Amino acid sequence: MSPATGTTPDAIIRVRGLSRDFVMGSETVRALRDLDLVVERNEYVAIMGPSGSGKSTLMNILGCLETPTRGDYWLNGQRVSGMSDAELARSRNREIGFVFQTFNLLARATAQRNVELPLVYAGIPADERRRRARATLERVGLADRMHHRPNELSGGQRQRVAIARALVTQPALLLADEPTGNLDTRTGEEVLALFAELQAEGQTIVVVTHESSVAAHAQRRIVLRDGAVESDEATVTRGGAGGHAGARPGEGRHEEVRA
Ligand code: ADP
Ligand code: MG
Repeated sequence: MSPATGTTPDAIIRVRGLSRDFVMGSETVRALRDLDLVVERNEYVAIMGPSGSGKSTLMNILGCLETPTRGDYWLNGQRVSGMSDAELARSRNREIGFVFQTFNLLARATAQRNVELPLVYAGIPADERRRRARATLERVGLADRMHHRPNELSGGQRQRVAIARALVTQPALLLADEPTGNLDTRTGEEVLALFAELQAEGQTIVVVTHESSVAAHAQRRIVLRDGAVESDEATVTRGGAGGHAGARPGEGRHEEVRA
């Protein structure tokens, strides 16, 4: 236990009193209201909730794409709330892999090249880039699609490329905002099952989804309403992929961070 925050030092996400206001003329939209959250290393958390409940705003702050109006955020032990834009960008590159609903791949680049790109920005030499991109594409089941361009791939394969791109820097935290939103149900299920495999290999994952079938894959489900946590509970996992023996992931988190 850390005396400063009352949580275990191994938490990947520690958020306390997080608020985000959007000022629209004379009106203020309170997208997040005094939200507390702890996600431990190697958890697989699903975030659900109605449209407008603050899911994307929360994901953008967790992913260091946006800053909160009030409150504190520690990412992998580092306090990122209050960082400058440049510091925030460094934390994002080092700690975060982000997967989007719309894949956001470069249309003219091969799968391998798309996955190499974050390593180009990180200054990794070409040989190592290629090796790591290929290994990561193999890990997501695309060994035979390295040289295909996005328009030569199915939606599910494109999202796998995007997941490989998010993972290739070995981020502490994989974030996905509605990664199955543009996929049919079966393909979406495959993507969620892939996340469960990644978790079994040690990855920490937070995913926003509308699919209630995510409950079959994630260990823990958080429902947002009006910018606050409405419920936070452990889910019964299917198969062997999720769930530490004896762990009850959702339990007590909120009391812990309020201490
Ligand atoms: P969700 O992802 O759950 O649908 P969002 O986080 O996108 O919800 O939005 C939460 C609330 O904040 C909504 O009322 C939305 O209209 C508002 N909001 C989100 N982003 C902005 C923005 N950039 N400017 C103004 N209002 C915003
Ligand atoms: Mg959203």
